[in-house]
Amino acid sequence: MSTTNNRAYNFSAGPSALPLEVLEKAQAELVNFNGTGMSIMEMSHRGKVYEDVHNEAIARLKKLFAIPENYEVLFLQGGASLQFSMVPMNFLQEGKKASYILTGSWSEKALKEAKLFGEPVIAASSKENKYRNIPALSEIQFNSDDAYVHLTSNNTIYGTAWNEFPDTGDVPLIADMSSDILSKPVDVSKFALIYAGAQKNLGPSGVTVVIIRKDLLEKENKNIPTMLKYTTHAEGNSLYNTPPTFGIFMLGEVLKWVEAQGGVEAIAKRNVEKAGLIYNVIDNSNGFYYGHATPESRSHMNITFRLADEELEKQFLAEAKEAGFVGLNGHRSVGGCRASAYNAVPVEACQALADFMVEFQKKHQ
Ligand SMILES: *Cc1c(COP(=O)(O)O)cnc(C)c1O
Repeated sequence: MSTTNNRAYNFSAGPSALPLEVLEKAQAELVNFNGTGMSIMEMSHRGKVYEDVHNEAIARLKKLFAIPENYEVLFLQGGASLQFSMVPMNFLQEGKKASYILTGSWSEKALKEAKLFGEPVIAASSKENKYRNIPALSEIQFNSDDAYVHLTSNNTIYGTAWNEFPDTGDVPLIADMSSDILSKPVDVSKFALIYAGAQKNLGPSGVTVVIIRKDLLEKENKNIPTMLKYTTHAEGNSLYNTPPTFGIFMLGEVLKWVEAQGGVEAIAKRNVEKAGLIYNVIDNSNGFYYGHATPESRSHMNITFRLADEELEKQFLAEAKEAGFVGLNGHRSVGGCRASAYNAVPVEACQALADFMVEFQKKHQ
């Protein structure tokens, strides 16, 4: 527990830490938003008060993430998991191929859904290497008539991230950026579609952000349910039906916070510093701790590591919990330890974890 404000050292993988300032502001405005005598949750999504919140959040995301004019920002529901289905449902015609790059469990899940609609093929995979690395750009094989190429920019479970994205030319590149969106500047123009569940870097769960290039909308399949078509939400400014208004309000507040931190460049610098504190301990531990990801594929969001001694690993997790660190258990599918240091996790928490790891090693070596 941080001594200054009773906040846990929260390294949860998602939902995850939100900025304290944002939570406090939401609390202060909860029962009477902007003098309306009601909370943002209690008012019409068609009224001016909510619409301003909604449109400002879209505008702010466009500005912060440097999203070009020819893209739409959508707020959807169903999580990143529904995007696994919506992407092929909209853009993968029967008999057509799409290329999937497998870098972890989330990409596998995306591939599985695509099989229901067309013929996805594996463009590259690091599965044989237990998903410790991102495949080299030269290994990626796709065809010029693919409907799209799909990748996962940050692998939340394995702790790997792309440093450089493939150039797919005229083939639309689609990315699941759920666990690293807004953690660093990205050249959005390389992508035809980016999607992200909000609950890691953008806000609470319940909102899914989609950034879609307008020309892609024209390629959409016509015979699919209205709610599952991107054009429905693009044409309706994500107000075709009732959006998750409170989640979008919170997302807007998180974006204001990112702006106040100096924007995405400043956040990225801080993220490198934060993850570096923990990777340094791992690298200087003489093998007491070892990372899952190969150093050149390391994520700055999810730091995955193990202890050489399995019994000690259990003890490490138990003592860390006792010391007030939350969420350090690795994903149930892989075990080990994982520290998720998303945008809102303060440097102070990463420093505290680094210090704890050094002390633990001293005690138990
Ligand atoms: C968390 C996560 C998901 C799943 O998100 P939901 O919103 O729970 O569907 C998908 N992809 C990645 C990379 C994630 O980190």
